[in-house]
Amino acid sequence: MSDAPPDTTDAFDPERIEAARKVFAGPIAFLKSAPALQHLPDGSVPEVAFAGRSNVGKSSLINALTNRNALARTSNTPGRTQELNFFDVGEPLKFRLVDMPGYGFAEAPKDVVKKWRFLVNDFLRGRTVLKRALVLIDSRHGIKPVDREVMDMLDAAAVSYRLILTKADKIKATELTAVTQRTAEEVRKRPAAHPDIIPTSSEKGMGLPELRAAVIEALG
Ligand code: GDP
Repeated sequence: MSDAPPDTTDAFDPERIEAARKVFAGPIAFLKSAPALQHLPDGSVPEVAFAGRSNVGKSSLINALTNRNALARTSNTPGRTQELNFFDVGEPLKFRLVDMPGYGFAEAPKDVVKKWRFLVNDFLRGRTVLKRALVLIDSRHGIKPVDREVMDMLDAAAVSYRLILTKADKIKATELTAVTQRTAEEVRKRPAAHPDIIPTSSEKGMGLPELRAAVIEALG
């Protein structure tokens, strides 16, 4: 059993869903890319980060979430995306979304993997405004060993995180129920993980209102 306190707020309350929809329907703009920590923007507002294996559907999800076609760039080339991308949300600025570099590319050179580790670890450990990381998991594959490594990093850095299933449209409803349960069962043992999993599909719009509400909830 997890020692994490149960979430007492109901992110899926219709009022919260509507409030979150409004926030994401407002201004959202790319701020900057940070290939190294000295390029980080000032930490003046809370942040929620998106992490996941390359090709998990992270760019598609950020674009769907923000109702933009090309805010986050898709089809990232492995080895070229070792940067954190920041997006400003709200006018006046309310919070930031952080697109973290994808991980787990089998053919990524060792030095690229090492650089990723340093960048991400330093960011996770030093970024006090980071409220939560959303770790994306492909519904078809479930949690992979490399995802566990990232969850280890988050647990060690004491950064709260939540698992989000992507591409839910690619599997049957019964399979989705099973993978959601399996995933929830696994994270229950993890100290910094949110106990509830959100299944999403950028393609079909599934889970997006809930995910928007979960982002707002994470800001505290
Ligand atoms: P990233 O590397 O994590 O940013 O992944 P992308 O967003 O570029 O998506 C990788 C591939 O998965 C692309 O071909 C997308 O069209 C596809 N994809 C992403 N999300 C979905 C989804 O919800 N459903 C389906 N069927 N395909 C998706």
